[in-house]
Amino acid sequence: MITLKSAQEIDMMREAGQIVGQTLQILRKAIKPGITTAQLDALAKRKIESCNAQPAFLGYRGFPASICASLNEEVVHGIPGLRRLKNGDIISIDVGVYYKGYYGDAAVTFPVGEVSLQALELLEVTEQSLHEGLSKAYPGKRLQDISHAIQNYVESRGYSVVRNYVGHGIGSEMHEEPQVPNFGLPGKGPRLEAGMVLAIEPMVNVGTWEVETLKDDWTVVTADRSLSAHFEHTVAILEDGPTILTLMQED
Ligand code: MG
Repeated sequence: MITLKSAQEIDMMREAGQIVGQTLQILRKAIKPGITTAQLDALAKRKIESCNAQPAFLGYRGFPASICASLNEEVVHGIPGLRRLKNGDIISIDVGVYYKGYYGDAAVTFPVGEVSLQALELLEVTEQSLHEGLSKAYPGKRLQDISHAIQNYVESRGYSVVRNYVGHGIGSEMHEEPQVPNFGLPGKGPRLEAGMVLAIEPMVNVGTWEVETLKDDWTVVTADRSLSAHFEHTVAILEDGPTILTLMQED
């Protein structure tokens, strides 16, 4: 069942989302060659807890850290650790926050130092695909209008969208109905209504859309080890259109 949120609930979710956005901003500034993903995780945990919020991913199905940190060919769910970022890497950071009963969830792929033109284009295409999806997030449209807009844009640029992982409704649970695939057919799926809050999160690969999971049982990588990027926002659909709850921002 898809639960619609009241204006007051959306305001609460905006507070959770602001903490997500502020955390991503701190990480954006900290990301440089030499820092470890465990150090980034510690920065995020400290920020989230300083806001009297909880890192939503910590302990989720046994996940051992506060953020997901996925490098290069890693798609999602990378575990922070002692690896140091190198010039030319790209790193996808996913942040989830639980605050006063509501969740916020967002992801950004950042360049580390100077990256290849191909990597830069991948980031640009993935971020833009999220906005293509948002352009369909209006009451009266169908869910897969969002999905199709993302897929169509990504594939028109010569990249592929991951099929095995999808976006989701979000609210008092981190994962609620409906699923929000990054591929689909226009005019299909549930009708969008004011009060829906969705985590829209295209995962885009340079090569094949196929992925596999590493032996740590978490890290998802592209099957052909090509680069992958991930952009996500928690988005509320209002009467007059979408509003992003997790914008990257200063405190
Ligand atoms: Mg998500």
